[in-house]
Amino acid sequence: MARSRTTLIVQNTIWLSDHLIRVHLGGPGFADFEANDFTDAYVKLVFPNPDGEIMRTYTVRAIDRATQEIAIDFVHHGTEGVAGPWAAAAEPGDSIDLLGPGGAYAPRADADWHLLAGDESALPAIAAACAALPIDATGRVFIEVGGPADELSFPLPEDVELTWVHRGDAAPGERLAAAVRAEPWRDGQAHVFIHGEAQAVMHDLRPYVRKERGVTAEWASISGYWRRGRTEEGFRTWKSELAESEKAAPAGV
Ligand SMILES: Cc1cc2nc3c(=O)[nH]c(=O)nc-3n(C[C@H](O)[C@H](O)[C@H](O)COP(=O)(O)OP(=O)(O)OC[C@H]3O[C@@H](n4cnc5c(N)ncnc54)[C@H](O)[C@@H]3O)c2cc1C
Repeated sequence: MARSRTTLIVQNTIWLSDHLIRVHLGGPGFADFEANDFTDAYVKLVFPNPDGEIMRTYTVRAIDRATQEIAIDFVHHGTEGVAGPWAAAAEPGDSIDLLGPGGAYAPRADADWHLLAGDESALPAIAAACAALPIDATGRVFIEVGGPADELSFPLPEDVELTWVHRGDAAPGERLAAAVRAEPWRDGQAHVFIHGEAQAVMHDLRPYVRKERGVTAEWASISGYWRRGRTEEGFRTWKSELAESEKAAPAGV
């Protein structure tokens, strides 16, 4: 990821639902922000911390060159953490530093069909991907949210069908994984984008897509965006341990 550091200013915040807050960032620093072509473009937000600085990773939901703003959608997951509570309290004029953007995925025009799945944390990246799909694209989208009040509308091609999965009192990702597995697999080359709670994504959906359905790495963007019960620092440790264990005993996924 490009490590250039930019300072942006909060322009306004909009509560898209009780659990998703859109923050528009702009100001003079916008001119230094170098966009990339990935629909999952992400930045590292830098927060002051008693021990120095702490970083949190967020998708660039949209860039508006006319207003010179970028939009980031934050899951409001309670009072725990740094970034979620920051977004809930953000006010016009607040400043935030960010690094990036990085990114790795954009929907491929040569795919026969698209499968996109994730929870609220991946909703910004999924919505950005849907906006970039060719108008004649076909596919399936599954998004897990707490309940019906968390559903949002966003444009998607006519032959791309969206299912909202309601988490209710189930573990994060459990019902999402069940919904994706229950969907009949289509013929032809799939391009897959699946992100969200790491346990469900890495230990259930990734083996399903890569091993059971045989989708190769170049056609699959699958990883955790956060881990239940862990801060982003703890999640990074979890990821390193998973990578080490897979090196020792390759999972083939
Ligand atoms: C490439 C990438 C892109 C991402 N894009 C987005 C995005 O656009 N919007 C977004 O909201 N998140 C996104 N995330 C996830 C986000 O980085 C994490 O959720 C992060 O942990 C939030 O930081 P925090 O300071 O709010 O909470 P932390 O201090 O990291 O964690 C505090 C507690 O909150 C829990 N927690 C963290 N996130 C969630 C959640 N989503 N739901 C429920 N509990 C949670 C943790 O398990 C922990 O117990 C992305 C992650 C990656 C890797």
